[in-house]
Parts: sequence; C-alpha cells; structure tokens
Amino acid sequence: MGKSSKDKRDIYYRLAKEQGWRARSAFKLLQIDEEFNIFEGVQRAVDLCAAPGSWSQVLTKKLSENNSKDSPLPKIVAVDLQAMAPLEGVIQIQGDITKLSTAEQIISYFEGELADLVVCDGAPDVTGLHDMDEYIQAQLLLSALNITTHILHPGGTFIAKIFRGKDVTLLYSQLKIFFPTVTCSKPRSSRNSSIEAFIVCQNYTPPKDYVPTMINPLLDLSYGKQNELLGPNRVIVPFIACGDLR
Ligand code: SAM
Repeated sequence: MGKSSKDKRDIYYRLAKEQGWRARSAFKLLQIDEEFNIFEGVQRAVDLCAAPGSWSQVLTKKLSENNSKDSPLPKIVAVDLQAMAPLEGVIQIQGDITKLSTAEQIISYFEGELADLVVCDGAPDVTGLHDMDEYIQAQLLLSALNITTHILHPGGTFIAKIFRGKDVTLLYSQLKIFFPTVTCSKPRSSRNSSIEAFIVCQNYTPPKDYVPTMINPLLDLSYGKQNELLGPNRVIVPFIACGDLR
C-alpha cells in the first residue's frame, strides 16, 4: 500500500528514506539502544517478525561496529512469515515464530549455541477492534517469549513490542517469571497516539529446571498436552469439592 501524505510529513519516515533504512521502525531500536546499550558484547542475535528488515539492518550495523578484529563475525538470524529482500550478513528464515521447527532452525544456524539478544517487533494485522487487537498482540508477544526460551542463553536480553492495554500488568508478571529486570520503554519515534511500547527484558533467568515448550493452548487444540507438563512447567492447584448435595 502507498504511503499517505501524513506519513511522508513524518520526520522519521523522511529520515529513514534519507539514511537507507527499510522502515522508520529502525529508529525505535536505535533509540532503545541509546538508553539501554543493548548491543554490547552481542555475537548472536535473532530478529523475530523481521520484515521488511529495518531492525535487521540496525543489528548488522551495530554488531559489526562493536566487533573486534580478532573475534568471529557476528551471526544474525531474521524470521518472518513473509519473504524479505536479502540483507548481507543476515540469514533469513521464512517461518512462523510459534513453531518449534523455527526454533530448531535458528539453533542449527548458531551451531548449537544460543543467542545473546532476541528482538521482536511483531504485529498482527490490526482489526480496528481495540480489545481484539490488544489481545492478539499479547498472544504474539507470548509466542515470542515462548520461542525465546528455546533460543536465548541465560543472561541474555529480550526486547519486544507490547501494547499498553488494560491487561498489560498480567504480561509484565509473565515476563518477570523469566527476567528479573523488565522495563517498559517508549522511544521518541513511536507515535504518541499509539499504545505501542517496547519491553526490555534483561538477564534471562528461567525458573530452575524449566524446560522450554511450544505448547500454546490457543493455537494447539489438543488440550491434553498441557497435562504432559512436568516439574516447574506445571502448576497443580488443589481441587476440593465443597457443599453437601444431599
Ligand atoms: N521490525 C520490522 C522492521 O523494522 O522492518 C517491522 C516488523 S512489522 C511491524 C511486523 C511483522 O510481524 C510483519 O512482517 C509480519 O509478517 C510479522 N509476523 C506477524 N506474526 C508472525 C508470526 N507468527 N511469525 C513470524 N512473523 C510474524
């Protein structure tokens, strides 16, 4: 779809054109980095929901700038449902972040090693129904967290788009199970009129004995699988029947 004249007046839209970024979203990641210094020491990074690729461009630039001559070249993997124009230094996977096979492909590219940084600017197609859009965005964020538990090494950083809707505190609580430091950040380039923000989750620390799974009750309708979860992956609450039915 063509850009409206309102988009063209937008300063970040024009800057992105001038500087060769594929989308104005590049500035969101750059501004998050100004605050959190997210690329320091990063050798392996994953860009989830990457098309058209401006965040992958930022990753390529920043990781190569930080790379010392003696260290191996940084590795970057980009995943999206849609095909993306090739980018030098970026391995592309056209796939779904909710699939275990996508996690396996990423790890095989890293030759069994895990990522230092996972970013996700994922967005479903918006319907205009705010409650529905917030809900779907939250599910996509949880899918991104789910795949991240397969591919991020302890101590790593996870950054993702979040909608600050009325249930956002539930999401914060879920993220805090895996990351001791969770910060919600709004880059200047993210429009004030949008409820979009970005969570910066630092120092990945999964619960003791946690085993990553891809079970998502909303996508996987074989509900029985949830009962296969063991140990810290499963919470069993007592069930007590009450009341005298005589
Ligand atoms: N960060 C990108 C950039 O800077 O160019 C823009 C990302 S765009 C806002 C959101 C992307 O999320 C879309 O390309 C869409 O295809 C992708 N997406 C949505 N659901 C996905 C899923 N389940 N798996 C992979 N990609 C998904």
